[in-house]
Amino acid sequence: MTPSLLIATNNPGKLLEMQALLTGLPVRLYIPRDLNIKLDVEENGSTYAENAALKAVAFGKASRMLTLADDSGLEVDALGGQPGLYSARYMGSHDDSDADRRAFLLKNLSGAARPWTAHFHCSVALWAPDESIQYAEGICPGEIIPQERGSNGFGYDPIFLLSELNKTMAELSMEEKNQLSHRARAIQAARPLITRTLALFE
Ligand code: IMP
Repeated sequence: MTPSLLIATNNPGKLLEMQALLTGLPVRLYIPRDLNIKLDVEENGSTYAENAALKAVAFGKASRMLTLADDSGLEVDALGGQPGLYSARYMGSHDDSDADRRAFLLKNLSGAARPWTAHFHCSVALWAPDESIQYAEGICPGEIIPQERGSNGFGYDPIFLLSELNKTMAELSMEEKNQLSHRARAIQAARPLITRTLALFE
């Protein structure tokens, strides 16, 4: 029987990327909707890894499947690392739009000298039915720019410039973003953990 892996996210942008990043592994991928699991996990950890673990544990216990969750955020140097852990609720609520959050970030940066150097951070947590948790991390450096460019991706992608490519994340195809993003790097690092863990449960 093909083993199963649940991708524990309700964020459609992340889900598409993670599905593509996990292809080729000898697993059948599930998303919470496939299993009719509806969970809104409170992300009250003090690190990305803690928040990723909170999601992996909650979805893992609900499904009893090998479960992968991510927690990610944007850290802007001129803002002392903000929005960081609060990237998804920068203006106080999960209900604000991505466009509102980008505008708020640019407003907060308006007096600061450029370049507005920044990086994305991603932690992933892998929960297994023996209740073990393993972690992997990825970082992607870049710069915030004042005008939006591109319409691919999600979140802060249209204002996050990859300086060497002179393209924003939103100007990359998903395949290109998945070569270099923080999430791609974290999942690349997690792939051997997934393979090893699958072997334990065979
Ligand atoms: P969380 O991991 O669900 O707490 O959400 C992280 C938030 O960080 C997202 O809602 C986005 O606002 C932002 N973010 C994380 N990864 C990306 C990315 O790849 N592109 C753009 N924004 C991102």
